[in-house]
Amino acid sequence: MRRLLAFLLLTGVAVAGAVWLADHPGEVTIRWQGWRIDTTVPVLLAFLAVLLVALSVLNRLVRTVFGAPGRWFESRRVGRQHKGYAALADGLAAAASGDALRAGKLARKADRLLRDPAVTGLLTAQAAQLSGDDDQLRDRYRTMIGRKETAFLGHKGLAELALKSGDRDSARAEAGQAFLLQPGAEGLAGMLLDLQVEAGAWAEAEQVLRTARRRNALPVADLARRRALILLGRAEEALRAGNEAQALDWALDARDADPLFIPAIALAADLLRRRGKGRKAASLLKAAFKAAPHPLLIAGWQALGEGENALERVKRVQELVQANPASPDGHVALAEVSLAAQLWGQARTHLLKALEQRPTRAVFQLLARVEREERKDEAAATAWVLRSGTDSVPEPSWTCGGCGHHTPDFAVSCPACGAAGRLEWT
Ligand SMILES: [Zn+2]
Repeated sequence: MRRLLAFLLLTGVAVAGAVWLADHPGEVTIRWQGWRIDTTVPVLLAFLAVLLVALSVLNRLVRTVFGAPGRWFESRRVGRQHKGYAALADGLAAAASGDALRAGKLARKADRLLRDPAVTGLLTAQAAQLSGDDDQLRDRYRTMIGRKETAFLGHKGLAELALKSGDRDSARAEAGQAFLLQPGAEGLAGMLLDLQVEAGAWAEAEQVLRTARRRNALPVADLARRRALILLGRAEEALRAGNEAQALDWALDARDADPLFIPAIALAADLLRRRGKGRKAASLLKAAFKAAPHPLLIAGWQALGEGENALERVKRVQELVQANPASPDGHVALAEVSLAAQLWGQARTHLLKALEQRPTRAVFQLLARVEREERKDEAAATAWVLRSGTDSVPEPSWTCGGCGHHTPDFAVSCPACGAAGRLEWT
């Protein structure tokens, strides 16, 4: 509507102008350098209008001709970038679906087109990972470290590669860098703590633990368990260096962190006994036995009664076992001390209870001993021994969750595979 009005207005003005010019046909004479032009005003105006249009057309022509190369390069650049990003997206999709060959091809294409390793680093790294090319992968991760947005992935990737090649010191260093950038990353805090505990880097591990707690990087129970393990490691190290008082402090801290961490309780009780604090050791052992009976606690308890005779020993063990009378470990311990005190009936009763709960080889052997020592019944003894060959269950032991290694003695790191905190009593 507005354009129509403008058109009508312009047409009106043009017609009015033309009419006015026809009514006032003036003449113009131009003299210049010996030239002379005689014409009318309408003709001159028409000439000027044509000249204006011609100049405008020429201007557009010149701009089109001289701007062409720049526009051509620009359009090529945009086209290359477009193809590069398309290759990047397709490559990431291929990597996600596990197509190593296609991912690698598209990674090279994206690399060539985009010419920015920081942008294509993730795809090339994934392609190298899929094709198992660790050297290229390492190069890529190193490139990624240089860019803020991908530095975390670079450090984490380098840590995993180092771990794979068995270079645990480098793995610890790279995981440490990654942890500084993203403490809450899944699985990272646990991996770093394992490496630090294995290396005995206690102070660093405690620092990581504090950050992990602040940032909720680990479940609360896991935090407590790991803290107890680190404190036990510190206590054992202090003990090796001859610093018993410091070792005791740390062992007690480990027990406070995880009140059912048997190796820490056993160590604390042993150190208390050695420092003349038998009563405190006893209360520690009894409280632990009540919640989680374990042979280490019974051994610590028996050590408190040095020099006792066999009957006194029976009384001592009875006092502990009363705290948790159903424990098979308690029954076996009572059977052993009863046998030593020649209390056959009592020994047999406890062994038969242990047999119901956990018929280990040791229980059958003790039953054979009772037959032999009480009744001199060799046939009955042999029967128990034979039954142990078919009916016995394995003795509980510290078992590594990483490699399955069994060991009678607890260790912060598995003696077979070196994994930290993986030994469980089973
Ligand atoms: Zn192991």
